Amino acid sequence: GPRSEELLARQRERESNARAYPRHFPFAIAEGAGSWVRDVDGNVFLDFLAGAGVLSLGHNHPELVAAAVEQMGTFTHGLDMATPTKDAFTEAQLAMLPEGMRDRMRIQFCGPTGANAVDAAIKLCKTATGRGDVVSFQGGFHGSTHAAMAMTGLVAQKRPIQNGMPGVQFFPFSSCSRCPLALNPETCQTNCVALLERALHDANGGVALPAAVIMELVQGEGGVIPARKEFVQRVRALTRELGVPLIVDEVQTGCGRTGTWWAFEQYGIEPDVVVASKALSGMGQPVAIIMYDESLDVWAPGAHSGTFRGNQLAFATGVETIRIVERDDVLANVRARSAQVFANLAELAQDPGVVEVRGLGLMLGIELAAPADGRSVTALAQDVQARALRAGLIVELGGRDDCVVRMLPPLTVTAEQIDLACAILVDAVRASLG
Ligand code: PMP
Repeated sequence: GPRSEELLARQRERESNARAYPRHFPFAIAEGAGSWVRDVDGNVFLDFLAGAGVLSLGHNHPELVAAAVEQMGTFTHGLDMATPTKDAFTEAQLAMLPEGMRDRMRIQFCGPTGANAVDAAIKLCKTATGRGDVVSFQGGFHGSTHAAMAMTGLVAQKRPIQNGMPGVQFFPFSSCSRCPLALNPETCQTNCVALLERALHDANGGVALPAAVIMELVQGEGGVIPARKEFVQRVRALTRELGVPLIVDEVQTGCGRTGTWWAFEQYGIEPDVVVASKALSGMGQPVAIIMYDESLDVWAPGAHSGTFRGNQLAFATGVETIRIVERDDVLANVRARSAQVFANLAELAQDPGVVEVRGLGLMLGIELAAPADGRSVTALAQDVQARALRAGLIVELGGRDDCVVRMLPPLTVTAEQIDLACAILVDAVRASLG
């Protein structure tokens, strides 16, 4: 529309100093409510990006707004000092951990972003172990600070930091459907984890014992790739055997996104460190934490500082988010709506133009195949995204060459909204494949 055009033109022509995040969303947003946003020209879109998974209860949830407004009028910033709101947030988060972990996990506020918390997790593990290297995995994404980027296993994204930092080692990722060597999962099983096991055991030709192993249980930016359960369990057994802390980066998978509060619950493991951010506040108030085993509790008070670690608005809405998630059984909705997406897209998944429909909970992706007509898979995926947008659906791309159409709807998305979004996506993919 004309008002969006005017705002976007200002950005393009450098009349405005703002640099836009996504070039693929040609509109300016005026307001949001639930799963919907409205642009400045009055067009409405179903938002299946939801702030990259931040808005777990959708836009402007009235109860979260009320909690934020009340906190705003009471107390907004107190560095990392104790407040009743911070205490309530801490207690609420600990209560969401599996019973066996509650008492032994400590919380450190790292804010304001996920990458800050990833950096803190690495620093903590280095302090605790006295070791310097970190093992991470191909296709992983951990953020845009220098250290988080160094551990990111996506070459195109990390190129600007020029080879990252010393002491980071990559291992293949065990998602057999995306095996970089195209090995047969039936015969190979999980040889990639065998490689890691061997490398960490072999003093002559292996790698130095690391300060930590960091992984996403479902790679998000890497293209919605759930790790194999066996792979994760063997990494857990190996790191435990060697005394290496296992960090799970639940920045994207956490806070109910995958159908349990933490994804690690579904993998049958207990990590040493959990990194969380995005949906902690339920409504996009920046906040980031690490939760870690008491054995890693080596920092003296103040050893890790930072100005914006006491976002009282985030704490207030975070407590309210957990209350609503439990009251409304939002996790049951995540699981039901996820199953609905797989059912609705089952036929599309059989299309030769589609490699796979996959994901966990409401972290979902459609991987597209390189088209036979000479277009790049990137161009195809962008065309699908543009068609979906014209039909009123916001989705993001990710993965290798952006070949995966990603869906991260609010966890409160309704059955009708899922049906509508799936119908739009089926039409968009079919039309793009031609
Ligand atoms: N880890 C994961 C798994 C992420 O998906 C992201 C963000 N997409 C980050 C870390 C970084 O978080 P932030 O952008 O808040 O720094």
